[in-house]
Amino acid sequence: MTRLFEKRAYGPEPIANSYWPTTVSPPRYAPLSGGHSCDTAVIGAGYTGLNAALELARAGQDVVVLEGEQPGWGASGRNGGFCCLGGSAAGFQTLTRQVGREGALAYLQAEREAVDFVRARLSDCGIDADIHSRGETCLAHSPSAVAGLQALIGEIREIYGVDAEFLPREALASHGLASPEFHAALTTPIGFALNPMKYVIGLAQAAEAAGVRLHGNSAVTGLKTAPDGRHLVQTAQGEVRAINLIIATNGYSSEKLPPWLGGRYLPVPSAILTTRVLTEGELAAQGWTSRQMCYDSRHLLHYFRLLPENRMLFGLRAAWRCTEESDTATLRQARADFIRFFPAWKDVEITHHWSGLVCLSRNLTPFSGPIPGMARTWAALCYHGNGVAMGSYAGALLAAQITGHGPATPALMTRGLRRFELGGWRRAILPLIYGWYGLVHRRR
Ligand SMILES: Cc1cc2nc3c(=O)[nH]c(=O)nc-3n(C[C@H](O)[C@H](O)[C@H](O)COP(=O)(O)OP(=O)(O)OC[C@H]3O[C@@H](n4cnc5c(N)ncnc54)[C@H](O)[C@@H]3O)c2cc1C
Repeated sequence: MTRLFEKRAYGPEPIANSYWPTTVSPPRYAPLSGGHSCDTAVIGAGYTGLNAALELARAGQDVVVLEGEQPGWGASGRNGGFCCLGGSAAGFQTLTRQVGREGALAYLQAEREAVDFVRARLSDCGIDADIHSRGETCLAHSPSAVAGLQALIGEIREIYGVDAEFLPREALASHGLASPEFHAALTTPIGFALNPMKYVIGLAQAAEAAGVRLHGNSAVTGLKTAPDGRHLVQTAQGEVRAINLIIATNGYSSEKLPPWLGGRYLPVPSAILTTRVLTEGELAAQGWTSRQMCYDSRHLLHYFRLLPENRMLFGLRAAWRCTEESDTATLRQARADFIRFFPAWKDVEITHHWSGLVCLSRNLTPFSGPIPGMARTWAALCYHGNGVAMGSYAGALLAAQITGHGPATPALMTRGLRRFELGGWRRAILPLIYGWYGLVHRRR
């Protein structure tokens, strides 16, 4: 497979010390072996692929899911668990410029529907994913960012019809959000936090119960078309003959599977650390007792939340490479930022740290639609680091496109993914973006 990052990004090292596998024992799925046929073959068993498969199976289709590792091995089993608005890297004004006000609003409503979709999914599949947090809180990282938060209140009301709650700096401590780093907070009452691995494992089990044939250690190595027009999806030990094909590989995609994807998605590393369990005394010493899922107002943001078991989870954009040295540098940076945000916890042990790939598009918006020029082939990807809700929903939208039943996909999500100008060299823009935003944040 031709992939964009160093080999290490696609191996076991980045998740060797992840916290989530310590919270749940996932079942293992056997590899595909021999020849099979089905209505729809799905490549990738994360939120996108599994939600698409589950919806299709419930609609009566015979579905095979092929996963290169095991379900949830990709970003779906290693993320921060923020089930929140998001999916696009463009704000309301930019989207409006791109597709007009109505098109922008239709897309942003889908972001909200995505959150509701996951809540309903957890309930209809009986998944206990340790949920908490009433919406999501953005914290101003500088005095000049406070006005930006206040300006968002009207926009949030206009788009989602909800009232966001603003807290000035002096009110943060009384809400359990004490940190020398922050100057104000804005809570949007949409979204909740979950254990990402419990969610993805629960999804895999629900899909299997609905009749989906799920195979682990079954990396797809080739795609062909049979004389009757069906897809021939090939793995090392088997082949699936399918009427429909769904590509759900997001940040773990490869340049030639299918060739259309080449140059149209950009994986970006993100990293997380968690602390040991904090005592009540330690929480009180910092003044951070809130279980809100939070992020800061930087472009290259940090995201953090106090887990139900009182460990602090802290995530950030990682280095633009994926080597042992860059992982060490990211951990050093994460630790330094963590201590700046939560100085009372400067000596608290970091028990787990890991990383994975999110995925950006040149359009700045997610894609969920048919692949141009490829008969009966669909893909959904590029959620800009916000795929817990949007990836889940984008998968369900693909199923609706295939069956013709279910919610309509906003037009903005079906417009083709533009190619990045630098093609196979596109990763080179990351250090430039990081450098630029680093400069911007230092000046504010
Ligand atoms: C560290 C980190 C933190 C994040 N935090 C959040 C967060 O808090 N909130 C949020 O909304 N989003 C977050 N995200 C993003 C979110 O996790 C992803 O957008 C989402 O999980 C994407 O789901 P997916 O199913 O499309 O892709 P993935 O979960 O990445 O699944 C793709 C799968 O495809 C498989 N695959 C690839 N190629 C092949 C092949 N040839 N054959 C078979 N299988 C193949 C891979 O093994 C992988 O399992 C985070 C991501 C990371 C990495």
